[in-house]
Amino acid sequence: MNSRIGQGIDFHRLEPGLDLWLGGVKIPSERGCVAYSDGDVLLHAVCDALLGAAGLRDIGFHFPDSDPEFSRIDSKILLGRTFGLIGEKGYSVVNVDCTVCLEKPKIAAFTPEMRNVISGILKTDPENISVKATTTEKLGFTGREEGIIALAVVLITRPQ
Ligand SMILES: [Zn+2]
Repeated sequence: MNSRIGQGIDFHRLEPGLDLWLGGVKIPSERGCVAYSDGDVLLHAVCDALLGAAGLRDIGFHFPDSDPEFSRIDSKILLGRTFGLIGEKGYSVVNVDCTVCLEKPKIAAFTPEMRNVISGILKTDPENISVKATTTEKLGFTGREEGIIALAVVLITRPQ
């Protein structure tokens, strides 16, 4: 098998009164991400990791925020289309490991649902999807609840 690793990172600004979507799940929160799409920072990081692993540039290249098609788009659609792109090159997903950095809310209760959503789109077992969360100990823009960071590492494989 030909296996390749990829990493992705994404940032969004947080503002009061917006929905917070993370890993395809709507999280009860006073603040949500400012974005052209639904602002699902976690799914965007996973998309970029998959594209990077397959050598397919990045999320901004495939889904530009200058294109009205992607205005307010559900990021689960973007992840599905990304999975289609790597599938065209013969790749399937071995595993995904993610970390979300945010001060609050606590998201541990929602990570099983996120794993189910992501694994459903990527056609793999939820056991192969890891979603972790951390604070930055009140340091920096995440600590001040001004923004959120997501990081993802993926392994993809295809027959030799
Ligand atoms: Zn994003």
